[in-house]
Amino acid sequence: MLSANHFNALANIVGNENCYSDQAHRLAYAYDATRQSYAPDCVVFPRGEADIQAILRYANEHKIPVVPRGAGSGFTGGSLSVDGGIVLALEKHFNKILEVDMENLLARVQPAVINSHLQAAVEKIGLFYPPDPASMDYSTIGGNVAENAGGMRAAKYGITKNFILALRAVLPNGEIIRAGKKTIKDVAGYNIAGLLTASEGTLAVITEITLRLMPKPKFARTAMAIFPNVEAAMNATFHSFAAGVTPVAMEFLDNLTIRAVEATYKKGLPTDAGAILITETDGNVEEDLRWQLSELERVFLANDASGFYVAQTEEERSAIWFARRNASQSLKVYGPTKLNEDITVPRARLPELLRRINEIGAKHEHQIPCFGHTGDGNVHVNVMTNKEDAVRYHKAERAITEIFEAAIELEGTLSGEHGIGLSKAPFMKLAFSEGEMNLFRAIKSALDPNNILNPGKMGL
Ligand SMILES: Cc1cc2nc3c(=O)[nH]c(=O)nc-3n(C[C@H](O)[C@H](O)[C@H](O)COP(=O)(O)OP(=O)(O)OC[C@H]3O[C@@H](n4cnc5c(N)ncnc54)[C@H](O)[C@@H]3O)c2cc1C
Repeated sequence: MLSANHFNALANIVGNENCYSDQAHRLAYAYDATRQSYAPDCVVFPRGEADIQAILRYANEHKIPVVPRGAGSGFTGGSLSVDGGIVLALEKHFNKILEVDMENLLARVQPAVINSHLQAAVEKIGLFYPPDPASMDYSTIGGNVAENAGGMRAAKYGITKNFILALRAVLPNGEIIRAGKKTIKDVAGYNIAGLLTASEGTLAVITEITLRLMPKPKFARTAMAIFPNVEAAMNATFHSFAAGVTPVAMEFLDNLTIRAVEATYKKGLPTDAGAILITETDGNVEEDLRWQLSELERVFLANDASGFYVAQTEEERSAIWFARRNASQSLKVYGPTKLNEDITVPRARLPELLRRINEIGAKHEHQIPCFGHTGDGNVHVNVMTNKEDAVRYHKAERAITEIFEAAIELEGTLSGEHGIGLSKAPFMKLAFSEGEMNLFRAIKSALDPNNILNPGKMGL
């Protein structure tokens, strides 16, 4: 617990109205989307960079942990204060869009701007910010940078890192740094903005982000195809890209997921289908979209799709996306506890990955519905279990470990979206050698020798 002296010193920095250690604040900031709970000793709302500098200097001097926090929507416990200390809540005073530059196609924002607010603001003037995590209505751009978040449009446009031009940040010693420039090209010095991206609040507090924007494409078309098995759908995915098609999104639902959505929402989905692929194309030239769709149809049919259906109206388009958007919550038909991971492999290894997951499910007697972003090789794997049944839960945990092992063996990664945080920290040794882990630790200790910034995360 922080002493009264420490609390008063922090309140002196930010003002009493921005510093709280009451039970209600400690509880409200104890959670993220993992539903684990670690209450901080106090919650501080810095008013500007100068406050963050002063807080970090004070915390460094007294070795108090500091956890930066956006919206707390993280799926791996990144914003939880495992060692107590200070939650640095940015939502109150760091939520402004500072600049939208139409000529240079960029935006400069504070870290607690909500992703969908930025999207709406730039779309009003014909521009486009593509990264669209499913949490975009509440997650912040700072949290997106700290986790390198991605979404359905990643297949064509990439993820948060592909849009970061520059960052401002406060280091644990209180020093302000600028990393990157407004320029498209910048090869001077180390790529510090790259280092801070996906650093999960362990290296610096990001205080300003300059993002690349694009003109909003004029047209978009959505299509859906049904496949006899999941391997055929995965083959169709990578063959489509190899054929030169550039879909914005290519998403899949396997048979277990299709059946769960249908059982929950009764939308007339084909419950005997092995898999469904949903794909969207966009662009400014209608002729190009027609070519993309005809090429997708050709490749899908050549990979055993039974029919290729293109939405003709906005209602039809939303009906197609409904199944994908509601996949996650419908899975509870298979069990009360969901262990979900977001492994990613190179696209051409997807058929083998899905085969391996099926075998692991059979071996450990668990249903493992899968859906997600085939277009970028990112699969949401859901081991459906019951945490009240210790024997069964242990088997589910074994299944998760074997799924991570399979992803790494297939040249993939532990996480394509949600990061490492606390939840995946035990698996870092599967993915990285001791030498690589030591390199991470050396970087951490160079920037944060007293380990005050978000300690206990990423297996460091
Ligand atoms: C229903 C649901 C759907 C989701 N869908 C997706 C998805 O499609 N794709 C995806 O990638 N993720 C997804 N997520 C996960 C989550 O929304 C993202 O990781 C998001 O980027 C977290 O943003 P946040 O503002 O909530 O950050 P927080 O949860 O508050 O923080 C996340 C991490 O970032 C650090 N951090 C936050 N702000 C800063 C800062 N300014 N400086 C330094 N460090 C900082 C924190 O310390 C923490 O380690 C989903 C989550 C939910 C609940």
